[in-house]
Amino acid sequence: MALSDLNQVERNEEGIAAVLGILKQRLGERFQTGQAIRSQHAHTTTYIPTQAPDGVAFVETTAEVQEIVSACAAHRVPVIAFGVGSSLEGHTNAPGGGISVDTSRMNRILAVNPQDLDCTVEAGVTREDLNRHLRDTGLFFPIDPGANASLGGMAATRASGTNAVRYGTMRENVLSLTAVMADGQTVTTGKRAKKSSAGYDLTRLLIGSEGTLGIITSLTLKLQGIPQAISGGVCPFPSVEAACNAVIATIQMGIPVARIELVNALQMRAMKSYSKLDYPESPCLFVEFHGSDAGVAEQAETFGAIAEEYGGGPFLWTSVAEERTKLWKARHDAYWSSLTLRPGAKGLSTDVCVPISRFAECVTETEADIAEMGLVAPIVGHAGDGNFHVLVLMDVDDPKEIAQTEEFVARLNMRAIGMDGTCTGEHGIGQGKVGFLRHELGHGVDIMRTIKQALDPLNIMNPGKILPAAK
Ligand SMILES: Cc1cc2nc3c(=O)[nH]c(=O)nc-3n(C[C@H](O)[C@H](O)[C@H](O)COP(=O)(O)OP(=O)(O)OC[C@H]3O[C@@H](n4cnc5c(N)ncnc54)[C@H](O)[C@@H]3O)c2cc1C
Repeated sequence: MALSDLNQVERNEEGIAAVLGILKQRLGERFQTGQAIRSQHAHTTTYIPTQAPDGVAFVETTAEVQEIVSACAAHRVPVIAFGVGSSLEGHTNAPGGGISVDTSRMNRILAVNPQDLDCTVEAGVTREDLNRHLRDTGLFFPIDPGANASLGGMAATRASGTNAVRYGTMRENVLSLTAVMADGQTVTTGKRAKKSSAGYDLTRLLIGSEGTLGIITSLTLKLQGIPQAISGGVCPFPSVEAACNAVIATIQMGIPVARIELVNALQMRAMKSYSKLDYPESPCLFVEFHGSDAGVAEQAETFGAIAEEYGGGPFLWTSVAEERTKLWKARHDAYWSSLTLRPGAKGLSTDVCVPISRFAECVTETEADIAEMGLVAPIVGHAGDGNFHVLVLMDVDDPKEIAQTEEFVARLNMRAIGMDGTCTGEHGIGQGKVGFLRHELGHGVDIMRTIKQALDPLNIMNPGKILPAAK
């Protein structure tokens, strides 16, 4: 996938001018057209160039979202939902211009039902805000992408993170949602029942749709009880292969780890200096267990024994909250720490995921490829899910480096697909991975296109994303 392959979307100048006029009048100060704010709303954390929208609408209600989508539909203007902009594949870029719908002011927590372990929130509520709000209830929402993302954006990208090995992804944790569809009508996709066999699963159709089918305005989420005890720690290994094999054994033995994260030696070097961690500069697993006091102690002991079998250890674990928080803060800051390995470089984060039995093979082949190509590219991974990220640090002003990185990424994505895996475990397709979708899903792409055409016949919802351009 080369930059030149990014889907092109034609600009509709006349329509855009008409919608800008309508929204200025309708929203006043809540509609912004300044260059800085427009660029910020297309900001991508990858090397994909910024493609700014023509205006940014700070919406406060579902009715306002409906009005904007209706105006955009009437004038055939793209409309791009925006949470906090932490997505990594050019998701919020506006290749044909249009209106960015910023949901950050839709930040009300509408209901918490502790007896049913669920809550309903507006789409702009962030995961950290929700967990702060829930603290006194003894409940929490477990999905934790590194960034403090919006729950609407997390649903739209089918996000997960370090806890997914135990609690699942957004796919498993959204009971229903309300969205404004391309025709300006709203749909609520379900009730609060824990399960439902009522027809097509519209909730899951919208989860992972990256704003290409509708704009989510509220979500009903499953909650979990805060565990009685939490323990965790870091275990070094002699090689990345040994660490991966310890993960495979842990998962295959059914140890209910809450988190088990791979950090390779280069990433460990970055984390040691950036986050002041005192561990060896070798491949490590960051592990956490949730349960009763006795349960977490037993799980930690069993994991320690498995690690030893693969030459790992010592596994130093703790139940002290402050120490655990420091570790996981360092893990969540991995992206930022790795940037210090090559100051001035930009990072491209890959996101392959393979069946757990192929995890060691995929990671070791990839590390060998990195060495052979001479890339600066640390690895972190949600190892328990078979998902890992290579952060390739490159000079974006050097076309040769860009081409080399693209070659590496293509090889990695095809390696994972060849192992019955996916090019994206959690970040989504956006613009950056459009070229790999057909390799992974074949005719499935045509079915997706049929759905897109049926629900968004004017192609106004986040055009140029997910689906390759029709030939
Ligand atoms: C340092 C770092 C670490 C990360 N780690 C992880 C990780 O561990 N796991 C993971 O899954 N992701 C991770 N990410 C990626 C990112 O945090 C997720 O993709 C997140 O879910 C995006 O949410 P957002 O609010 O930032 O959405 P945005 O970036 O604003 O939008 C993402 C996409 O969703 C659409 N969208 C946003 N809001 C809505 C809505 N209300 N309705 C419909 N569509 C909408 C947008 O149009 C866009 O296509 C990481 C990112 C960074 C920067």
